[in-house]
Amino acid sequence: MSQRLAGKTALITAAGQGIGRACALAFAAEGASVIATDINLQTLETLNAETHITTRQLDVTDREAIHALAAELGALDILANIAGYVHLGSILACSEDDWDFSFTLNVRSMFRTIQAFLPAMLAAGGGSIINMASVASSLSGLPDRFIYGTTKAAIIGLTKSVARDFIAQGVRCNAICPGTVQTPSLDDRINAFDDPVEARKQFIARQPMGRLGTTAEIAAAAVYLASDDAAYTTGTAMVLDGGITL
Ligand code: NAD
Repeated sequence: MSQRLAGKTALITAAGQGIGRACALAFAAEGASVIATDINLQTLETLNAETHITTRQLDVTDREAIHALAAELGALDILANIAGYVHLGSILACSEDDWDFSFTLNVRSMFRTIQAFLPAMLAAGGGSIINMASVASSLSGLPDRFIYGTTKAAIIGLTKSVARDFIAQGVRCNAICPGTVQTPSLDDRINAFDDPVEARKQFIARQPMGRLGTTAEIAAAAVYLASDDAAYTTGTAMVLDGGITL
């Protein structure tokens, strides 16, 4: 590895599994000091043995816990907001509670972490914020992702707003928009179908490349956006989707 993140401190949410975990490992491999957080202590603890990674339990829906951690940690160079939940269904299959749950976990969490960690980042002269969005419905019209796509579109708007407001103070803020990525929660969604084998074929068929993305591929984009290689890049919604949006 080229140590592109040497000397930088990074906090990652939802780092226990999937894309967040891959980001934690990739950031650490590039020399960052990583604070890997997740609500799930069991998966998080599997990162404890990794060099350059410390773990902390954090529920991104808990405003007080977020602000307490920000006060304790001080300035970060990199904040990676990865936590998100996929609600399945159209607008007709969506309750007020479903809406509130997804917006709290997917979007309000980012409002809270950025609001908590940004002041110290600004005081230290800048940093990189990375928000995990999705191509689902925010950039392409995938079926039955009404709430999910709406939250992910909101994340792109949030990202651009933060990017614009703090561009002169050294803070960059970018979103990543993956297509379908092989993760534990994708397996759960596939296994919930009556015919999981057919369901997996359908998930794969969404990508003209004919395959799912890997967590390492998404983490590589996060490393780039976190690093000084992306010093001229802010407010983007970087698409890694196997061609879904072509
Ligand atoms: P995943 O669903 O496999 O894992 C989610 C992680 O979030 C788990 O470790 C879980 O413990 C944690 N989590 C859940 N609630 C939490 C909370 N309240 N506070 C803190 N952590 C919490 O993850 P994934 O599939 O890698 O998805 C990660 C992100 O990438 C999400 O925002 C998702 O929307 C986005 N994304 C995923 C895909 C995909 O195909 N997997 C595609 C596009 C975007």
